[in-house]
Amino acid sequence: MANKREFPLEQTRNIGIVAHIDAGKTTTTERILYYTGKIHKIGETHDGASQMDWMAQEQERGITITSAATTAEWKKHRINIIDTPGHVDFTVEVERSLRVLDGAVVVLDAQSGVEPQTENVWRQATTYGVPRIVFINKMDKIGANFDYSVSTIKDRLQANPLPVQMPIGAEDDFEGVIDLIEMKADLYDEDELGSKWDTVDVPEEYKADAEARRDEMVEALADIDEGIMEKYLEGEEISNDEIRQAIRRATLNLEVYPVFAGSAFKNKGVQMMLDGVNDYLPSPLDVKAYKATNPDTEEEIELIADDDKPFAGLAFKIATDPFVGRLTFFRVYTGTLEAGSYILNATKGKRERVGRLLQMHSNHRTEIPEVFSGDIAAAIGLKNTTTGDSLTDPKNPLILESMEFPDPVIQVSVEPKSKADQDKMDVALQKLAEEDPTFRAETNPETGETLIAGMGELHLDIIVDRMRREFNVEATVGAPQVAYRETFTKQVSTQGKFVRQSGGKGQYGDVWVEFTPNEEGKGFEFEDAIVGGVVPREYIPSVE
Ligand code: GDP
Repeated sequence: MANKREFPLEQTRNIGIVAHIDAGKTTTTERILYYTGKIHKIGETHDGASQMDWMAQEQERGITITSAATTAEWKKHRINIIDTPGHVDFTVEVERSLRVLDGAVVVLDAQSGVEPQTENVWRQATTYGVPRIVFINKMDKIGANFDYSVSTIKDRLQANPLPVQMPIGAEDDFEGVIDLIEMKADLYDEDELGSKWDTVDVPEEYKADAEARRDEMVEALADIDEGIMEKYLEGEEISNDEIRQAIRRATLNLEVYPVFAGSAFKNKGVQMMLDGVNDYLPSPLDVKAYKATNPDTEEEIELIADDDKPFAGLAFKIATDPFVGRLTFFRVYTGTLEAGSYILNATKGKRERVGRLLQMHSNHRTEIPEVFSGDIAAAIGLKNTTTGDSLTDPKNPLILESMEFPDPVIQVSVEPKSKADQDKMDVALQKLAEEDPTFRAETNPETGETLIAGMGELHLDIIVDRMRREFNVEATVGAPQVAYRETFTKQVSTQGKFVRQSGGKGQYGDVWVEFTPNEEGKGFEFEDAIVGGVVPREYIPSVE
């Protein structure tokens, strides 16, 4: 008998939290998981026990690498948080998560505003048409400036921010936020570490400013929403619900990006931002149809979330779990899938049995009997599936539009410290390559050396580290030898960045460029950029 879905599709959100490294993505995610009731202890991010960074080395490095998905609940909505890394070496990981999420929260540091990696992720999100809200975090930090941060969204991203809040105070005096729609203030009790707050009328001293900002918000909406425009011109009252609905429409159309303020660290403003996730980010029904092709007839099909259609899903992450082994994270686009049933991996042309289905929460996992369209789960038992594969009903094969993985940019030789470990190392490298489509391992036919290639030095460091931890193989690593890269197809240059780049290789948007030194051997210019060449180690800039 069919199982019941726990949350209607309209109340499902698949979101990513994206940020420049250090803007507070991990802290914000952790607070979200806390408020959504799944974890019960706050403040563990940098004590090595953060809930999202469950790989040991992520904890050590304090950065997030995997793209695992965590399921949470907020005000009758299911929110699946798809983890996205903040490090530039893992841009492709960001890309693959953007494929399966419907909306994103962009976290900015209130002192710095938009930063280089924000620009990269923003551009990728635009490419995939992902609606976004912005959380200006660290309002408590010295130098925090909400208006400046908002201005960087305009100036550096050429996007249209729509502040729906204004902060009360900043730095040490950051006390709370004003909701410009409801015209209410949430004031936090400093003594209660942000766990208590009162919703009150806007304090007198902030009234004039808040009213002016509210007018600005409504005017900006009137500019893009006819319904609001008409009422605005007629001087008719516009209800708060009408404002929220107009913001939702405009956000889904990528016309505006609602902006929230807070301090994840001080537990301020995260709950209101979560309301924003529910109010403004899309459900699986609001996004454009996912394209798929029938491999037999080559007929193109548009997948719109619907439980009554045949099952079709996309594997977006393979992970090795210390307890249950190989996990395949996948998103269901149409239909439903029961544990224990057979599916077709249409990409590989192989039938596979789904053993168990898991939903990952921040600190526990639940075994679920069935997963429904629009949702995300992890399957145990898919042996032949790799990232980007289409999983479908055996009678309805489909190839889903998948991700493209760039070629690796850097290559090093590896050698087991003990010769006896060669076979073990080969097995380890093969497993790691199965999990990670941007990682390759091969043998140089002439020298017999093992070469590994990846997206950057950190990427390869992590691979070597995982070999040691998970496969018990100690390896010696040679110097990076060659960097090679896909074709340079277009110029994406903002604010003269190419010229500022000191050389080596760099990624701008979805384009990688490599630079050769100019005649004098100093400096690198855009004209000097070549693709597919050998980049001497000293020209490879250190990662941010
Ligand atoms: P990520 O690299 O984006 O995941 O950033 P983290 O969440 O790891 O945070 C980076 C640093 O900023 C850590 O030291 C955090 O404690 C700190 N941090 C995060 N949120 C806030 C905040 O709201 N205010 C202040 N002052 N610091 C914060």
